[in-house]
Amino acid sequence: MILDTLTWQEVAIRFLTTFILISLRYIFFAGVLYLIFYIWRKREFFRFKIQQKFPENKNIIREISYSFLSLFLFALVGSSLFILRKHGYTKMYLQFSEHSVAYFIFSVFAFIVIHDTYFYWTHRLMHRKELYKYVHKVHHLSTNPTPWAAFAFHPLEAVVEVGIVPLMMFLIPIHPYALLIWVLYQTGMNVIGHLGFEMFPAGFTSGKISKWHNTSVHHNMHHKLVRCNYGLYYNFWDRIMGTNHAQYDQEFEMVKTRARKLKDSSFEEMEVSEILHST
Ligand SMILES: [Zn+2]
Ligand SMILES: [Zn+2]
Repeated sequence: MILDTLTWQEVAIRFLTTFILISLRYIFFAGVLYLIFYIWRKREFFRFKIQQKFPENKNIIREISYSFLSLFLFALVGSSLFILRKHGYTKMYLQFSEHSVAYFIFSVFAFIVIHDTYFYWTHRLMHRKELYKYVHKVHHLSTNPTPWAAFAFHPLEAVVEVGIVPLMMFLIPIHPYALLIWVLYQTGMNVIGHLGFEMFPAGFTSGKISKWHNTSVHHNMHHKLVRCNYGLYYNFWDRIMGTNHAQYDQEFEMVKTRARKLKDSSFEEMEVSEILHST
């Protein structure tokens, strides 16, 4: 019925526009950090590298290939939602005046908090034996991830991941700018989680407030050790459910201490130089 009022050309254009926009977002976020940390300032930032080695190029190519497959599926869902929204099937609102500023702010936080919960529990589900073996394993092929791994999912997992968007659009009234803020924060945190370098300061994981926010070490440990640290933005669910790795704080501080030592140790500088040249 909806498609009766749209030409296939319009549907194709909507899909292509969505695909290009979300691809540019991925290339920008992952690409900028990759260029800075893995190419331009590789030597300078090496002391912050969580695992003191670099992945082979074939791993990066796999991360990018799977990510683009996910982006293709995200664009299918995104363009379908756009068409559904146009025909009034979602709760999205376009006029700011329809709701208060307080509601707008609330909707952004609600989106993030609900997504954090959605991600934690779907991620736990993905780690169940069969789902892990046939689906989630694809994401875990990166044991030493780079920012390009941000969307490197099996197609089935990509569909589950993007499921939060229709869920929220049908659940609560949301303005496109609230959606945009969430998209930027989500992509930023996703890329930071896979960065491979820890840039938060020492003591971050034990600070009264900061300990509730996840770090790069947190998700890096998930890729390296697999059965721990499942959360995305916040450390809330991992703490409540006891799924943080027992050595999370120690590992974080070890990375920061090593970074400090490498800064003023000429002997270890030599070792770093050897590692850098071997990649
Ligand atoms: Zn996992
Ligand atoms: Zn990951």
